[in-house]
Amino acid sequence: MNILVSACLLGINCRYDGKDNKVEEILSILEKHNIIPICPEQLGGLTTPREPSEIVNGKVMSKSGVDVNEEFEKGAEEALKLSKMFNSSIAILKARSPSCGSIQVYDGNFNGSLIDGEGVTARLFRENGIEIFDEEHLDELRILLEKE
Ligand code: SF4
Repeated sequence: MNILVSACLLGINCRYDGKDNKVEEILSILEKHNIIPICPEQLGGLTTPREPSEIVNGKVMSKSGVDVNEEFEKGAEEALKLSKMFNSSIAILKARSPSCGSIQVYDGNFNGSLIDGEGVTARLFRENGIEIFDEEHLDELRILLEKE
């Protein structure tokens, strides 16, 4: 099976601060599958490192107030293109990111507070029928893959 994975979870230094969010367990769970790494923020044309961004009143803004919504939307579209190209219906996306978060995101005040909601790519994926897991819900993914 072809599975899309947030590149930072695989150890790629694509995070806003030039670091990664590597989770070794993901590589072992996906040992028998094809991994398609995606970083929607890079796919949307943003640099690494870059300013942190959050969703503010429905639009993605950088911490200093630059509107980066268009880049986030473009990155989501490009990531969706990859999912179609590789016929992938499952994604493991980084929790809480304004792109990849699928259950909660930061609330737009840049103070670490969370609200229920999803990132731009997670939303587009869900609208297109892609099943999303995050690094904090790997047991559910494991169960699903065992059934395949
Ligand atoms: S956009 Fe997604 S893949 Fe890229 S650094 Fe942020 S959380 Fe990771």
